[in-house]
Amino acid sequence: MNILLLGSGGREHALAWKIAASPLTERRYCAPGNAGVAQECELVALDVAEHAAVIAFCRANDIGLVVVGPEAPLCAGIVDDLTAAGIRAFGPSKAAARLEGSKGFTKDLCKANKIPTAAYERFKAAAPAKAYVQKCGAPIVIKADGLAAGKGVVVATSVAEAEAAIDMMFGGGLGEAGAEVVIEEFLEGEEASFFALCDGETAIPLVSAQDHKRVFDGEQGPNTGGMGAYSPAPVMTPQLSERAMNEIVLPTVRAMKAMGAPYKGVLYAGLMITAQGPKLIEYNVRFGDPECQVLMLRLMSDLVPALLACCDGMLKNFDLRWYPDAALTVVMAAKGYPGNYAKGSVIEGLDRAAEIEGVEIFHAGTKAEGGKIVANGGRVLNVSALGKSVAEAQARAYQAIDRIRWPDGFYRRDIGFRAVEREKAGR
Ligand code: AMP
Repeated sequence: MNILLLGSGGREHALAWKIAASPLTERRYCAPGNAGVAQECELVALDVAEHAAVIAFCRANDIGLVVVGPEAPLCAGIVDDLTAAGIRAFGPSKAAARLEGSKGFTKDLCKANKIPTAAYERFKAAAPAKAYVQKCGAPIVIKADGLAAGKGVVVATSVAEAEAAIDMMFGGGLGEAGAEVVIEEFLEGEEASFFALCDGETAIPLVSAQDHKRVFDGEQGPNTGGMGAYSPAPVMTPQLSERAMNEIVLPTVRAMKAMGAPYKGVLYAGLMITAQGPKLIEYNVRFGDPECQVLMLRLMSDLVPALLACCDGMLKNFDLRWYPDAALTVVMAAKGYPGNYAKGSVIEGLDRAAEIEGVEIFHAGTKAEGGKIVANGGRVLNVSALGKSVAEAQARAYQAIDRIRWPDGFYRRDIGFRAVEREKAGR
């Protein structure tokens, strides 16, 4: 089968690497990809927003499966358009992608189906939103309804900060995404990422993973797309995973089917593990980046039949096998990220870094130029490793990083610290 992958980040390199390991694939393409993806797929200069061009490419190249990495094309309905053209595509329809595309939609779905989540209200104007904040007090969480590239959530520690966020969003600071706002209760606990493959009817959980959102060590500094991840996440015990499936994921799959928008693809539930159990913070309608990188390292089964089973409604009797090893990935980012950063600096030492046992380097924002690898984005590399424990995977990843010469990059030194502490304590 010929496969077309859409996207350009570390997530897509990890997917490409795993897809390339499948004996079911013949020719593999990726649009637009990056220098790492180019090791696994032929890169094609397609504009993913031009659905007609993507369809024409699929027809011309006999594509049997399109795998959509990021959320924007999903929310724009690329799976609907491909499906209508008779081309199989992994990912939810536009209607089902509202689980990520509209926070208000998801909150209402939770309320109607008794899915545990933070108490909330939806607002279309600043004055009633501020009145609600004054009534509830701080801490409180202000969220833009639409897609805001990770900038749409403000966890306000004071009423004044909450009001400033409301003014920013209704003042157009996030464009259309902020035309409606959700205000919700602040949840206390440890966060965990929970993933399930869905085929419209049923769902199967993937192994647990955890990412680090803040830019600096010790969870300091602004939020980012993710500075590292590891799997398993010890906070997600088997009991909690079962509760997350039964109380959150499966009721969502049933509700989406009942409203005529069956959910197919991977569903990523951002959870807060509270004293009362898991509560939904948000849904994403695609693999997390960088969680996908550690999931793909641990997946023993062929990924391609799993993706096909999601598309074809065949998950019911499907089974995934995983390596027992732990996996960890450290993001190397361009200095200045998540703010302004420069592109074009040269990265060296990748081959020697990849020689370390268990190490796999996924590219995120890179491009090949004159035989060299140069930085081409904010998050640039995902230095990843397998190990018998999170501690061993962590040690290998940092050993690999020490062999990479990239003076314009930086990274966190403490990825996986909670899991390593738990391992040390023997829990
Ligand atoms: P989101 O984009 O909805 O995942 O939110 C980004 C981050 O804000 C989450 O990863 C949490 O750390 C935090 N957050 C979001 N909602 C809440 C909440 N209700 N209570 C506490 N923290 C939250």
